[in-house]
Amino acid sequence: MYRPLWIEVNLKALGGNFKAIRSYLGRKVEVVATIKQSAYGHGLIPVAKKLVESGADIFGVGSLEEAITLRKAGISASIIILSAVPDSFCDLLIEHKLIPTIIDIKFAKRLNQQAKKRNCRIPGHVKIDTGMGRLGLDYKDAGVFIRELSQFKNINLEGIYTHFPAADSDPSFTQYQIEVFNQFINQLKLQGFEFKFRHCANSSGLLSYRDSHFNMVRPGLILYGVKPETEIDIGIKPVLSLKSKVIFTKKVKKGAGVSYGRTYIAKTSRHIATVAVGYADGYPWALSNRAKVLIKGKFFDVAGRVCMDHIMIDLKNRGDIKAGEEVILLGESKGKSISCEDLAQWSETIPYEILTRLSVNIPRIHIN
Ligand SMILES: *Cc1c(COP(=O)(O)O)cnc(C)c1O
Repeated sequence: MYRPLWIEVNLKALGGNFKAIRSYLGRKVEVVATIKQSAYGHGLIPVAKKLVESGADIFGVGSLEEAITLRKAGISASIIILSAVPDSFCDLLIEHKLIPTIIDIKFAKRLNQQAKKRNCRIPGHVKIDTGMGRLGLDYKDAGVFIRELSQFKNINLEGIYTHFPAADSDPSFTQYQIEVFNQFINQLKLQGFEFKFRHCANSSGLLSYRDSHFNMVRPGLILYGVKPETEIDIGIKPVLSLKSKVIFTKKVKKGAGVSYGRTYIAKTSRHIATVAVGYADGYPWALSNRAKVLIKGKFFDVAGRVCMDHIMIDLKNRGDIKAGEEVILLGESKGKSISCEDLAQWSETIPYEILTRLSVNIPRIHIN
């Protein structure tokens, strides 16, 4: 590591978060540990392995690539692919014992043919739309679709699910979705279609709506210790820290400009530090003149615009801070902390984007 920029992933906190979620749920509720996009930027394989060690036995991923990567790393747990897979890859789903989301009849037909050829039955979860407007048939039209799917003898339709668009912001709509989903399942049951797994809850759904659990939930964000908008506290802890170092310091005079656009002008003579992180690393440009960092357990402000691979920090009168000093961009130091939620708020985005945009080139150090 020649450039002093790294991510620390606290696997102990991750395991603790999984267990905290587990104990919040009823015993009969299964947990799909959602680890799409490299486990929200935390590193797919180390996260998956730690979760297995902590008791996870079902994973949710976003792509066939991620699923196969897990298999190649020796993960034998169930893997549900929470997106659509092109039907030309049906054979790979079967070969790697993966669980596809089924939203399309042409796909199901091909999947069934491939499974028949191999003389096996492949499990699948059908996804219906109750208001997200992303994947799956509208639940009003889905009855016919499910009846058609039931003709495919080599597909084991073991799961049915839907997704919340606003579990953190719109309780009445979310409650309406839960009701619609419940009624739809009951209606299907009367017609003889029963699903072993029924699920809809993401992190905020899981925390805020007990009746959203059915018998499976799909937490992502809270696994990584980031709290959605809710009063409920189950004791999760942040997992990821982003750290760098001061690489240069100087003293500037009153009136000196710092960084592109000269949006920061020193009000008085002061010390400025240059730190090795920038927007190309996933430290948002929108944090220009807005973010704080922690150095020696104290908060300091970002001075001027975030550059591609540098930021400058207003050290005020702290001439004692020199090149080589550690800088916490996200994480904690001596009882003070900068959370993913803070960075999201300062840059007017969501914590999910902060985490998943951290460059894959930043070394991840997994600490147990
Ligand atoms: C990403 C995702 C989740 C997890 O959402 P969080 O808000 O991170 O808990 C659950 N279900 C589906 C379908 C997803 O794509």
